[in-house]
Amino acid sequence: MTIKNYINGELRDALSNKIINVVNPSIGKVYGTLPDSDSQDVMLAIEAAIEALPAWKILSFEQRFDLLLKLANGIESRMNEFVEAESMDNGKPEWLAAQSDIPRAISNLKFFASAQMNFPSESHHTPNQGLNYTLRQPIGVVGCISPWNLPLYLFTWKIAPALAAGNTVVAKPSEITPYTAYLLSTVCIEIGFPKGVLNIVHGLGAKVGQAIVEDKRVKAIAFTGGTVTGRAINIECAKQFKKVSLELGGKNPNIIFDDCDFEDMMATTVRSSFTNQGQICLCGSRIFIQKTIYTQFKEEFITRINQLTIGDPKTNVNIGAVVSEDHMHKILGYIELAKEEGGTILTGGKRYIPEGECRDGFFIEPTVIEGLGHLCRLNQEEIFGPVVTLIPFDTEENAIEMANSTPYGLACTIWTENVKKAHRVAQSIDSGIVWVNTWMVRDLRTPFGGMKESGIGREGGFEAMRFFTETKNVFIKY
Ligand code: NAD
Repeated sequence: MTIKNYINGELRDALSNKIINVVNPSIGKVYGTLPDSDSQDVMLAIEAAIEALPAWKILSFEQRFDLLLKLANGIESRMNEFVEAESMDNGKPEWLAAQSDIPRAISNLKFFASAQMNFPSESHHTPNQGLNYTLRQPIGVVGCISPWNLPLYLFTWKIAPALAAGNTVVAKPSEITPYTAYLLSTVCIEIGFPKGVLNIVHGLGAKVGQAIVEDKRVKAIAFTGGTVTGRAINIECAKQFKKVSLELGGKNPNIIFDDCDFEDMMATTVRSSFTNQGQICLCGSRIFIQKTIYTQFKEEFITRINQLTIGDPKTNVNIGAVVSEDHMHKILGYIELAKEEGGTILTGGKRYIPEGECRDGFFIEPTVIEGLGHLCRLNQEEIFGPVVTLIPFDTEENAIEMANSTPYGLACTIWTENVKKAHRVAQSIDSGIVWVNTWMVRDLRTPFGGMKESGIGREGGFEAMRFFTETKNVFIKY
């Protein structure tokens, strides 16, 4: 498989002709190559985006709606191909890509196709003086940079509102999972998407990503990825006064009170801990359990985790491979750290070696750890893998204090049947998203993003449309 850049409506190699290998993590083998692009390729993409901008930004809502819908339908008509590619590239089970990643990528495009038609602007009458109205205009050329954990899901989460708002885009998917973004560029060609409006440049973050961020002609950056990268991007954008939206890491608390619906909580907590091998920024990695039900929780949780199946993502397993060999070693390093910090591994804790074709793949057993203080490194740093810690608590205040004790503030889950308590805890938690008695239910109209080092700004619904537009107030004297 030879993945190519998509610039000015054409598939191209990197100008340097350099390539990078791309690996299927479930078998541990190279399956193809992607262009090792650099600033020259980014330059071409930016020039194409500048040229395409005047026509794209004045397109009628209906025309833009039709084109974005065609992209969505183009993915849908090649569903199996996208599902297989996403699973092969990332290691996630095919059923997960089929149930979640690819349908959600389609929804992102459909949702923002429609959102731009309904995006309101305000007007304010100033008594006896005149009328203000607000224009929300396209920003220009924008950069969208996305990570490997939900490849097409997050790639489209950025490009769909950017395009819908009338901008042209230079986008960079993760070099670890480039396949479905490449397939999307082939859909663009199939449906005759206007050239230069969307450009996809593959390659390393330090070359391609950085070149997009540093170029002054790119007027805004929407980034999803790690906090360290986000900080570097934020510094560069600050120098240029460039608009930036950052969706970064998390260390999310899952707070379980003794008055919860135990069965519902248990089934959901297994999912919120280990879906996508724990590689979702919203996974609950620190599980706080009220002491009164700690032992009951622990026994039942371990029983259920031990029933999870691991292995070939093409089969009906619960858990596939983690994304890369490096990432596997990073996660295993954290498990070693847990032991050094005095934690007890209740289950898992090792690399898993399946039989057959996947024996060289990068699998890790779902791992549950107890006995660690809430301030130790393991409970402060993002691991981003199938590893959770159990932490007992006495009171509501105690749970809130520990939950808020990390530098992150992305998502939180609260389990209680007491509605007053649910509201109290929800308002006291430092996080951009709170779920009560559920996990990862997403309504695309709602604001999405994190507090503290989990990010800056909000995307989703009209928040994303606001981010991707420049706001202008016009006052007309009576
Ligand atoms: P990463 O920061 O390493 O990479 C993300 C993207 O940025 C990639 O495309 C990468 O090539 C690019 N990049 C790297 N260095 C760059 C630079 N200097 N300039 C510009 N671009 C650069 O993150 P990752 O390992 O791909 O993804 C995992 C992280 O993403 C985790 O921390 C996870 O929590 C976070 N994440 C956050 C959300 C959210 O919505 N908050 C969602 C998914 C993942």
